[in-house]
Amino acid sequence: MYEFAVTPAVTQLRRPGVIITEVTPESLGEELELRPADRIVRVNGRPVRDYLDFRFQTAGETELTFQVKKANGETLEIEFDRDEGEDLGLMFEQIVPRQCANECLFCFCKGNPDDARPSLFVRDEDIRLSFLYGNYTTLSSITEDEMKRVIEQRLSPQYVSVHATDLKTRAYLLGVAEERADISDKIRRLLDNDIEIHAQVVLCPGINDGAILEKTLRDLAAEYPKVISTAIVPVALTSYNNDERLTRVTPEFCRRTIREVEKLQKEFRKKLGVTFAFLGDEIYIKAGEPIPSRRHYGNYPQIEDGVGMVRSFVNKFEKLLQPSRTAPAISKKSDVRTRVEAMTPDKPAADSVSLEHILSGDLYGTVLTGEMFAPFLKEYVERFNAMHGSRLNVIGVPNTYFGGDVAVAGLLSGKDFLNVRDRLKGNFAMIPPGVIKSDEPILIDGMKFADLRSAFPLPIIAEDIIEFLGSWLRQKPAK
Ligand code: SF4
Repeated sequence: MYEFAVTPAVTQLRRPGVIITEVTPESLGEELELRPADRIVRVNGRPVRDYLDFRFQTAGETELTFQVKKANGETLEIEFDRDEGEDLGLMFEQIVPRQCANECLFCFCKGNPDDARPSLFVRDEDIRLSFLYGNYTTLSSITEDEMKRVIEQRLSPQYVSVHATDLKTRAYLLGVAEERADISDKIRRLLDNDIEIHAQVVLCPGINDGAILEKTLRDLAAEYPKVISTAIVPVALTSYNNDERLTRVTPEFCRRTIREVEKLQKEFRKKLGVTFAFLGDEIYIKAGEPIPSRRHYGNYPQIEDGVGMVRSFVNKFEKLLQPSRTAPAISKKSDVRTRVEAMTPDKPAADSVSLEHILSGDLYGTVLTGEMFAPFLKEYVERFNAMHGSRLNVIGVPNTYFGGDVAVAGLLSGKDFLNVRDRLKGNFAMIPPGVIKSDEPILIDGMKFADLRSAFPLPIIAEDIIEFLGSWLRQKPAK
């Protein structure tokens, strides 16, 4: 899920237009004398509400007129031509999300510790973020204007939290009146206008499982291929979410759900040619059952929702372990060494030195991950050690920050990492890059990455393990 920066409420009084935040040197934007803080309010006479409007109204256009409000209040009309596909070299402010009006039983906001970073308390429900980043919306409070916008601007696919097609159950889960919870007409309208949908069910034992889940999956599958896929992910209760109406997901519940959904998956594969309904990885892991094969997941339509992540990891790691492919081709962009060269001021020079130093050594260090994923990572890292003589050690870090059922790597906090610092071995420690906010070097509890680094007894790096090992292998022969 995309997590946005939190904007103080006062700045959410939106003025028309979209604000430029960066202009690439020597770009067309610079040639047009556009500057950060300029606000583009119209494109070819049409009003611009946000970045998406700007993108929509400039797409494919070679003759353009921008109406621009400069920071000093002056308004300019800038008329220009560009070559087909020529990039303007402009970066824009983030979209300020619309917020939901639901009271979902399982809302993640209720499960946050009080001191979690502020952005985790933002209840976003925004069709623009759904299109841009795959954030789910419930469609319960979508306005007519937004509906028209999705259709007119082809904001497809949309990611929709359906949870249950049984109306009473959906209303109960969302904590709203049935009239509001009923999105059947909205979904019909989207599908009739060729807007595709990826659906999600947050599975709550005793509420939307069993026969309700079967009905939900059958109803959604009847709309395939416009409803492309459905992810079924288990409700995750932290130690802060004590709603008595919710029951924790147990291994037995997971095993039963797998058996029930497997029957439907078989039926869908026969009828539709695809699995269509995918259970979250966590369900298989909790059940102690094998993760399905690569074929089961097709093109991993719901990987960002934790569906197929383990299978994708295992398959990539298997490739890394093939003797003939000890140095797999990885795009320059994902090469860790490339990123070392491109370190920004957020990653001071001292970090790049330690990463380069680590990559040029014998790999003796500790890899930290969530408890759920640790057994998989351990198995593959041990095989890698045996093949290449490295000494990497894996620690599954308990999540004491959220507590409860939370065991995924992405929700580990700075404090959780500090709790295991006495167990580290080797010359460095590696944490998953996803634990650091994408636009700011802080962790989920608000701890600065720099502070975590200074409190750690070893140099600490935040890297994707497969990319990191690939980079190490590629430079190994040169040592
Ligand atoms: S839709 Fe439900 S889960 Fe999502 S933010 Fe709103 S209340 Fe929370």
